[in-house]
Amino acid sequence: MSHKSLFSYSFDEFKQAVTDLGLASFRAKQVWEWIFKKFVFSFDEMTNLSKNDRDLLRQNFPRILPPVKKFEKAQDDTVKIVVELADGHLVEAVGMPDENSLTFCLSSQVGCNVGCIFCRTGEDGFTRNLTKEEILLQVMMLIKKIGRKPTNIVFMGMGEPFFNRKAVFAAIDTMTDAGGLGLATRRITISTSGVIPGIVDMINRPGEVNLAVSLHSVDEQTRNRLVPINKKYSLGRLREAIAAYCDATGRRVTFEMVLLKNINDQENDAYNLVSFCEGLICHINIVRFNKYPGSDLEPAPESNERDFRKILKKAGIPVTVRRSRGGDILAACGQLSGSGNEQEK
Ligand code: SAH
Ligand code: SF4
Repeated sequence: MSHKSLFSYSFDEFKQAVTDLGLASFRAKQVWEWIFKKFVFSFDEMTNLSKNDRDLLRQNFPRILPPVKKFEKAQDDTVKIVVELADGHLVEAVGMPDENSLTFCLSSQVGCNVGCIFCRTGEDGFTRNLTKEEILLQVMMLIKKIGRKPTNIVFMGMGEPFFNRKAVFAAIDTMTDAGGLGLATRRITISTSGVIPGIVDMINRPGEVNLAVSLHSVDEQTRNRLVPINKKYSLGRLREAIAAYCDATGRRVTFEMVLLKNINDQENDAYNLVSFCEGLICHINIVRFNKYPGSDLEPAPESNERDFRKILKKAGIPVTVRRSRGGDILAACGQLSGSGNEQEK
């Protein structure tokens, strides 16, 4: 008897599994619609299925969604859930409602081995990649909590998504499948610390998933320190890959810049960034550093941030500032740690 999670199946695989159980194949479509269109996660509530079929499905797929391990809601309505994986590890996912949008921020790994000095996720190192199913679980559990599907998805939670490309792309395929959630690919963004093979895959992959690169500095030495993976995928090569991506796709890349006091927040840092951007289709997202317990780093003073922004704007580079969300529950970027906020052990 199979006890695989339903979210590990593609629709065609699920249809096969359903017929293998002796059910009519159209039952698969009905179940899929209950789950992905009506957000019903219990077979007993799937009223167009016979009692017999529901019993059979329940026996074979005992739990559609695991319970949320921890749930928090911030003052700004940001929702954070902690998901306990089958092996006991914890990952976090965040839902950020706005007037006209609902963005889900998803994790791709348990921990991260990139080791950025300003990021809480990297502190405890890397444990393992998430499976496609575990990525989808985050989406479905957030939907269940919030009651509606997201307009946007960003892979900006725990982990480096391009070190787990197979599962991340498979999860995106399921999320965008018209028979399933039917999310728009162009509303999905993968954020990378600069893993070049992932950018190359994006060039070769059909679709319109957005690329965000966590740049933080365009000085090799400073970036080596902030984002140690720069020692492997240096800025020069990274820029070439991004340029190739812009040329091939015509799509705009977002550069994320966490501005840290006296490290990368000076005027010359901004001018160097302007030079780096020349010839690229890009947009800069300045991210306010979220302090977390145990970090000595300080966010750039507001005046530095303002001057930084002015220099970019003057050079004609579109720039936005990312508002910190859910700060009071440590749900903001770089504050996700998989420990459910309490110190582990
Ligand atoms: N690993 C990927 C995606 C997850 S991190 C990446 O690095 O891009 C998502 C974003 O949060 C990145 O832009 C990262 O630089 C930013 N971030 C990490 N720690 C942060 C912190 N303490 N404050 C603000 N942003 C942070
Ligand atoms: Fe990993 Fe991204 Fe955090 Fe860097 S910022 S340690 S790449 S999760």
